Parts: sequence; C-alpha cells; structure tokens
Amino acid sequence: MAQQKVSVVTGAAGFIGSHLCDYLLAKGHRVIGLDNLDSGTLRNLEHIVSDDFIFINMDITDFIDIPGQVDFVYHLACPASPIDYLQMPLHTLKVGAAGTRNAVGLAKWKRARFLLASTSEVYGDPEVHPQQEDYWGNVNPIGPRSVYDEAKRYAETTTMAYHRQQGVDTRIIRIFNTYGPRMRPFDGRAVPTFIRQALEDKHLTVFGDGSQTRSFCFVSDLVEGIYRIMMGGYHLPVNLGNPDEFTIKQLAELIIKLTGSHSDVIFQALPTDDPRRRRPDISLVKKLIDWEPTVPAEEGLKKTIDWFKEYLAEVV
Ligand code: UDP
Repeated sequence: MAQQKVSVVTGAAGFIGSHLCDYLLAKGHRVIGLDNLDSGTLRNLEHIVSDDFIFINMDITDFIDIPGQVDFVYHLACPASPIDYLQMPLHTLKVGAAGTRNAVGLAKWKRARFLLASTSEVYGDPEVHPQQEDYWGNVNPIGPRSVYDEAKRYAETTTMAYHRQQGVDTRIIRIFNTYGPRMRPFDGRAVPTFIRQALEDKHLTVFGDGSQTRSFCFVSDLVEGIYRIMMGGYHLPVNLGNPDEFTIKQLAELIIKLTGSHSDVIFQALPTDDPRRRRPDISLVKKLIDWEPTVPAEEGLKKTIDWFKEYLAEVV
C-alpha cells in the first residue's frame, strides 16, 4: 500500500485553511495544522474527529519544528482581511517575511513540496483588466494596504528564490476574493458584512459609490484548485478565482434579495487605495489543470447565508 502523505497547513484555523484541512483529510492525508489563532479560531476545526489530524498552536514567525515525515507544506497563514492587517501592520510584514521563510525552510528541510497562498492584491489597483499572471501590478508601496500587498509580493520573491537557488519544489497561487461558511461576521469584508447586516435588517454599508468591482469564488471551488495546483507540475504564479465580476452595489443588492431582507444600501467613504476593479483571467489555470469554478454566485451565497443564520443565532 502507498505510504500515507503528510501535509502541513499553516493558517489551519482560518477560513480557507480549515476548509483545506477538511479536503486533505477526505483525500486520506495526515494533516498537521498550524495557527496562532490571531484571526483563526478553533471553532473552525472542532468538527474534525480524526486520528489523522494534529493541531499545533504556534506563530509561524517562530522556528517551525515538526518531527517526522512531511510531504507537502501549504502556506496560508497571514492576516488577510483589511481590518486585521491594518490593526497588525508590522506583524503582517513579519508573517510575509519571516513566516514565509520558516514555512519554505520547513519544506526544504523535509524535501517537501511547498505552496504559497499569495493574493490578487499583488496586482494592487490594476491598470490591466482582467488580470493575467504576467501583469506586475500597481501597488502603492507606502499606502495602508501595502503591508499586506508588499508582504505577499516579498513572499512570492522568497518562494522563487528558494526555488531557483535551493531547488525547492514550489507552487504559487494568487487567490482572488473568496467567500463561504466560516468567514467571520465582523472581519470587515464585503460578503460577511453585507450578510450580517441583511440578516439583522440593518443598512448595508457600501463604500464609495459601489461601482468598484470584485469577482467572488466559493470556497469549495478554491480548495479544489489549491489541491490540484499542488499536485500539478507548474511552479510560476497561477490565478485562482471566479471570473464572474460584480460591482459591490450589485453584490449588496443580491444579498438583500437572497436574504429577503428589508435593509437598504447606504454609502460610506471608500478606504484608501481600494482597488477599482478586479477579475482574474483564469486561462492559465484552465490550461494547466482543467480547473474552473463550478458554484454559481447565487448558490454559493445561499449556502453562506444559511451558515451565517445558524452561526449568528448560536454565537453572536
Ligand atoms: N466593501 C464595502 N462595504 C463593506 C466592506 C467592503 O463596500 O462593508 C467594499 C470594499 O471597499 C471593496 C469591496 O467591498 O471595494 C471588497 O472588499 P473586501 O474587504 O471584501 O475585499 P478586498 O478589498 O480585499 O478585495
């Protein structure tokens, strides 16, 4: 029988990390999840009843010491929501720099394959639309968002340097806006904020005039793409996202419709350096692994709304 594969997931208690742990366990991997619980929560993992899962509460900016075999390192840990990285700017930079170095160093030491979860934020406020992987981006290096954007850009640079100089087998994915169950209702992002406001019949707070666009991918599609990129053979950055593009006002109106809410939309100040538009060009990933999202927005949003209803009734 083939030996069981061991995957390390940094950021395991986060929104995407916890879904990835579920996916890998279902694939028969042993999973070692790391998280410092700054923005993740054990609640996202408490449903896992498996001898194949271990959780280690640690900060990956400290040296990562994992005994035994490791075959894959999925490096997801990072404050990823604007309110988190604006509250922890220096720590966010440190996670991108020291945290990535430790995670890729673990992969090198174990001769494991390494995947960096990068972001569409490396494109900044893009001048090219939709965004292809060979676009270098338009990031304001001193703006408030730069702590996240530049940390991820540096993390990509670190990953490529380990690949080129040290021969580490690496993958880089650029994740576009993703949504689904286990997002935090107060993480400040558009989808959880609008759903919470709509369910409470409060005004939905659209920033600016709501004409800025984003393209939203349901988490199950994303996780499938992450796994398949890890198993594939391509080491340069790959976009993962859903090209279905909405204005933020359209998103707010759709959520009002799907929740049957009596809420209205109100307009508030646009945050500094908020990207005007964003949509992934996914032709590369389609060609590489024949992947594209399968969950339409209405279906994914309904699932997310149902989860939020239960969660808000229980917890908040
Ligand atoms: N946004 C909004 N109201 C909110 C939260 C976010 O209008 O309560 C806007 C935000 O300004 C941005 C878009 O929705 O233009 C997506 O924001 P999010 O934080 O979800 O993702 P990101 O900016 O990282 O793409």
